[in-house]
Amino acid sequence: MKDTYDVVVIGSGPAGATYARTIRTAAPNARILMVESGPAVTDPLGRHVRTISEPRERVAAQFASQGPAANPADYDEAVARALSPSRGRSSGLAARPGTWLLNPTPTSNGETGFQAAALSSNVGGMGIHWSGASPWPGIGERSTDLSDREFDSALDEARRLLLVTQHAFDHAPLGAEVRHLLGNHYDAGRRADRRVQPMPLAMEVQQTGERYWTGPGAMLGDLLVAADADGFELRAETTARRILTRNGDADGVLLYDRREDREYEVGARFVVVAADSLRSPQLLHASGIRPTALGHYLNEHTMTTSTIQLDPSLRAAAEGVRKTSEGAVDLLAGVSWIPFDERTFPFHGQITQWDASPIPVDASFEAWPGSVVECSLFMGKVDVRFEDRVEFDDDELDFFGMPAIRIHYTFTDNDQARLDQAVREAGRVGELLGSAINGLEPVVMPHGASLHYQGTTRFGTDDQTSTLDTRMRVWGTDNVYVGGNGTIPTPAACNPTLTNVALSVVGARNLAERI
Ligand code: FAD
Repeated sequence: MKDTYDVVVIGSGPAGATYARTIRTAAPNARILMVESGPAVTDPLGRHVRTISEPRERVAAQFASQGPAANPADYDEAVARALSPSRGRSSGLAARPGTWLLNPTPTSNGETGFQAAALSSNVGGMGIHWSGASPWPGIGERSTDLSDREFDSALDEARRLLLVTQHAFDHAPLGAEVRHLLGNHYDAGRRADRRVQPMPLAMEVQQTGERYWTGPGAMLGDLLVAADADGFELRAETTARRILTRNGDADGVLLYDRREDREYEVGARFVVVAADSLRSPQLLHASGIRPTALGHYLNEHTMTTSTIQLDPSLRAAAEGVRKTSEGAVDLLAGVSWIPFDERTFPFHGQITQWDASPIPVDASFEAWPGSVVECSLFMGKVDVRFEDRVEFDDDELDFFGMPAIRIHYTFTDNDQARLDQAVREAGRVGELLGSAINGLEPVVMPHGASLHYQGTTRFGTDDQTSTLDTRMRVWGTDNVYVGGNGTIPTPAACNPTLTNVALSVVGARNLAERI
């Protein structure tokens, strides 16, 4: 007889962790099984890699998350890079540590392509590799299909689960000065909560001053300690290959155990698919659950980044300030936020300060604490189109034995015009703060490089243009829920994880009530 669970959660990133945590709190007796394709790479499980101070151990965890690209030949080089203050930021197609490039089919039919699309596969998903920026969406970024009351309540819960704070760098050098300069230019006419401010970050600042970045392990908390005996179990290296259905509703999941190379079935009253924006539609497709909008409306944040040295006149303000980075994994000295404003600034501005240059500089370059600033502007896609989509090839299987992923994506003339505006705006931020290092123009990152893929399982009120209803349930099913960045229905410009977690709270609350 097959084992039956109240809920099977597929994927162990922030979205899966939110569902498991929220359901378990509301329904303490619920039996929950979480399955994860990738391996357990940290101890404790789901711990953020930035909290691992031993570089070799940290790099090993990153490598093990890289699925088919976990190539040990690069290991020594990766450790050396992890130890270097100059991280050698790539403007090309290199995958970020902990991720691997999907390498989707080459561009065809005049499409732009999505060359830098990347994924992570490990317990905790990208949530153990992320930078923790957790801004909330403003007017023009938020969907109007949920009431403000419901969405704001879910956002509050998301902040609590992710341990979001705006005080992580209160005593860092030059943060206030940077915000003052930017605020003078951007704050006029904005509501108080949409002015330049410290970036909300998912981390705990401990008594010692050390920063503990939030990973899904921190979100699951005692669920991991109580383990199986208490009705929650996490199975790593276990891929959900198909949701089993009867009369259109889920009644189990077909699982593949990679270590034992065997398939088996479990029963489920509810299934939660939280397998990222490309692989949640992949699993639904493989299961024959295919609403019209599934995989469509793909959009991401196209990014432009410039690296600036603060004006020397600010140097005096940094004198005597303790270096904030001592003992930390990197030389990060603070992050500020220029929020999206639909009238005047249709971008999300992320202003990161460093104690050393993240890009190569010559020997004469002199940095002082907090003086090197990376200004990244994210833009939401202007034209969100049905044609931009993730598709699956039933005749070719990927590394995990699932239908291979193909992406169709086109950056339109309207999108390009918005990007040109972003590049000009990034130049303006540079002028407000100092001067570009090496005289470099802002760099535009390749498509897919944001790692923030939205829309592919979006929610809404129309079953032809959305994949989920407003309870995050797949249209046409009664008991299949989805979590992830793909659920975000708008081309919001701000980083997606806080919104992803808030929408997962909406789905989990509904599911828990039904248990
Ligand atoms: P994921 O975290 O991707 O987890 C999905 C999991 O599902 C994966 O582990 C995968 O292996 C598993 N899975 C897939 N298919 C199956 C299957 N069939 N069966 C079982 N398991 C499966 N976001 C922000 O908002 N702010 C930031 O500052 C930020 N910085 C980032 C920096 C880096 C370097 C990276 C890599 C990401 C960053 N992100 C950031 C993105 C953020 O990490 C993601 O938005 C977030 O992790 C998404 O959570 P998720 O649970 O939806 O998906």
